[in-house]
Amino acid sequence: MGSAERLKDFLGPEKVITDPAIVDLYAREPSGLASKAMAVVFPESSRDVSRIAAYAYKNNIKIYPQGSTSALSGSAVPSEEGIVLSFERMNRVLGVSVVDSTVDVEPGVRLGDLNIELARHGYMFPIDPGSVNVATVGGSINSGAGGLRGARYGTMRDWVLGLNIVLPDEKGTELRIGCRTTKCRQGYDLVRLMVGSEGTLAIVTEATLKITPLPEAMVTALTFFTELEDLYEAYKEIKESRVLPLVLEFMDYETALLAKEASGAPVEVEGHMLLVGVDCNREAVKRVEAWLSELMRRHNAKRVFTAIGQEEAERLFTLRRSLFPAQVFFGNKRYPGKRLIVLLEDIAVPPSRLLEAINRIREVSNRYGLQVSMGGHVGDGNLHPSVAFPVDDEQVKRKVMEWHREVAKIALELGGTVSAEHGIGTLKRGLLEMEMEALGSKRALELMRGIKRVFDPKGILNPGKVI
Ligand SMILES: Cc1cc2nc3c(=O)[nH]c(=O)nc-3n(C[C@H](O)[C@H](O)[C@H](O)COP(=O)(O)OP(=O)(O)OC[C@H]3O[C@@H](n4cnc5c(N)ncnc54)[C@H](O)[C@@H]3O)c2cc1C
Repeated sequence: MGSAERLKDFLGPEKVITDPAIVDLYAREPSGLASKAMAVVFPESSRDVSRIAAYAYKNNIKIYPQGSTSALSGSAVPSEEGIVLSFERMNRVLGVSVVDSTVDVEPGVRLGDLNIELARHGYMFPIDPGSVNVATVGGSINSGAGGLRGARYGTMRDWVLGLNIVLPDEKGTELRIGCRTTKCRQGYDLVRLMVGSEGTLAIVTEATLKITPLPEAMVTALTFFTELEDLYEAYKEIKESRVLPLVLEFMDYETALLAKEASGAPVEVEGHMLLVGVDCNREAVKRVEAWLSELMRRHNAKRVFTAIGQEEAERLFTLRRSLFPAQVFFGNKRYPGKRLIVLLEDIAVPPSRLLEAINRIREVSNRYGLQVSMGGHVGDGNLHPSVAFPVDDEQVKRKVMEWHREVAKIALELGGTVSAEHGIGTLKRGLLEMEMEALGSKRALELMRGIKRVFDPKGILNPGKVI
């Protein structure tokens, strides 16, 4: 067995931290999940990563690749003793090509910072998780992230063209997979296999991403409905109008109230929240604004707040971006001084089944007597019911875990999925099995285990995650 101290010899002491107090900071995530590791290593190049992987292979050391640990599924938290591989120092934007509509980046670049750079070229990277200011490229690729613009732009799997990866083998083999062009048939699609693989197959050291022009103008409307049925009718009319909004976000009344309390958002919460963002050309702004306001009012919306342009819109986004903090805020209020876990569901259902899903989840949550926050990226049918509970309260924990399976069952019964964008990690492994069983496809899990063995024969890369 090699030691983390030995890593200091060949990487340099400045790239390895073994102080347990610091290491602990890299072994936890915002959901409250926490673990232990023996060191944090900060590679500065693909070559560093390759040497670390080869050393770990030889000495049977587990490796946990890590961006900002914001995935909320336990995927970046160590599951056994091993080393955390932090990409904090591989955070350069290597090159932007407007003609090719691509950007080359290192994995530690945060999506928010990437967009600051791209905005200088009039472009953006459109995947926009609520955590955009901390989420890294490597973490977002590996968790298959989506976000607020999912209805229009999908998820990471639609935006990654090529990758440099390192395999957890004897040599720490460095490979380039994928292309620099949108059209690319390179045998089996290894790039797509990497996206959403949660750091269990290979380590990403560079990515070529697609980029898209910034919209010329954007109209955002925020409004509230007393009845969920009215909100859904407005949502449906938008969907049927041949306009493809950039943003379509929802929060139920109780959650919007909590989010306002947690964030101090400057809007009066008057019911269930719907937030819509539509891009258009400058000449059409007034027309789109009037269309959205009139449509909402026709479906009994309360006041409609509108904003033109991204900066003004951020004011309206505050409430929605506070979905997760709202549950943390509420948990701390309800269980003062206790260490909490926030369990955030991440289901998706076909949009035509959304109203049914929301009503059924609200009914199940009431039945279990749990204070559940409910919101999500409804444009693509993605909902995030969430609940906070004290780690050491076995009775509440049992109740939450039963609720967790009930919510998953609802998603599956409505033709949906148990994990839309945050990944499986440790928290949703049972639900993944449930989903494949419901599809009559448990054999697919064996295929996945086979793929894992091919990439990672010793099982040293992020073990205990996904399958
Ligand atoms: C407040 C809040 C809001 C959020 N909103 C959204 C949202 O709207 N949409 C959404 O999809 N997610 C959301 N998330 C979840 C999360 O932020 C995203 O999934 C994000 O993309 C994860 O990035 P990260 O850098 O934190 O990755 P991490 O959590 O550090 O890692 C995620 C996975 O990637 C692996 N990994 C990291 N880097 C590499 C690498 N270089 N090579 C191989 N594997 C690697 C890790 O091992 C882990 O399995 C939210 C989280 C929070 C806290």
